[in-house]
Amino acid sequence: MPLLQPLPMPEKTTGVLSFDFDGTLVCPDSDPQLDPRFFELIKQFREAGWVWGVNTGRSQMQMLSGFMEGQFPFLPDFLIARERELYTPGALNRWRPVVDWNKRSEKDHKKVYRNARKFLKLVQQHVENETRAKWITEEGDPAGIVATSEQEMAEIVEFIDAKVSDYKNLGYLRNTIYLRFSHKDYHKGTSLAEIARLCGVEAKQVFAIGDGHNDIDMLRREYADMIACPANADEEVKQHVREQGGYVCSERASLGVIEAFHHFFD
Ligand SMILES: [Mg+2]
Repeated sequence: MPLLQPLPMPEKTTGVLSFDFDGTLVCPDSDPQLDPRFFELIKQFREAGWVWGVNTGRSQMQMLSGFMEGQFPFLPDFLIARERELYTPGALNRWRPVVDWNKRSEKDHKKVYRNARKFLKLVQQHVENETRAKWITEEGDPAGIVATSEQEMAEIVEFIDAKVSDYKNLGYLRNTIYLRFSHKDYHKGTSLAEIARLCGVEAKQVFAIGDGHNDIDMLRREYADMIACPANADEEVKQHVREQGGYVCSERASLGVIEAFHHFFD
């Protein structure tokens, strides 16, 4: 992978731009997957003091290939991975964790997984014995599911929803056929709020755009006053964005992002 650098940080931050990655910035059926005009606009935002970042369900490692898929000419100013891990760009394509937040999140997650151990075991047995979905255990992320279809995921979610509220602080984040259990207080919205807080920026100067179920958490006016979704967003996401008084784009993925920029910033 080529060495990428972020743009030099502005002296004073005007606002924060938060982008979901898959289906919002990049779309595998488009060529190129990410329209290069997006980066030209980001340069203009930077001149006006805006910082920008990717807010994704992908892990930090999975984003390394993501930057190539999107042919990024420079790195974002922040990365939110697995919806809750905060990073800033370091030297040599490494990402520096935002230590306080990430440590607190790790501790809270360990506790929530421990308290819900029996329930998670029950869900695992259900997934493994009654469905064709896969139960996934990764370091720091012990309870994830990959379904074979969105319909199957909807059925699994129904099973989970019947009992999940009995477990304090246990939540889950879902996107198409993927689901991971997590602490209720950690999601794209609270992660974005922490980035804004670190930048000294209020929600009225925050823009967020996403297309999937796990984006709903950041597409809330308490976290971002300017919210949008591309035309390819899930119906549920479009409905939510309308209810929040946000903007539903008529273009797909990165063309939608560019359209949303014009809507909010022209
Ligand atoms: Mg997405």
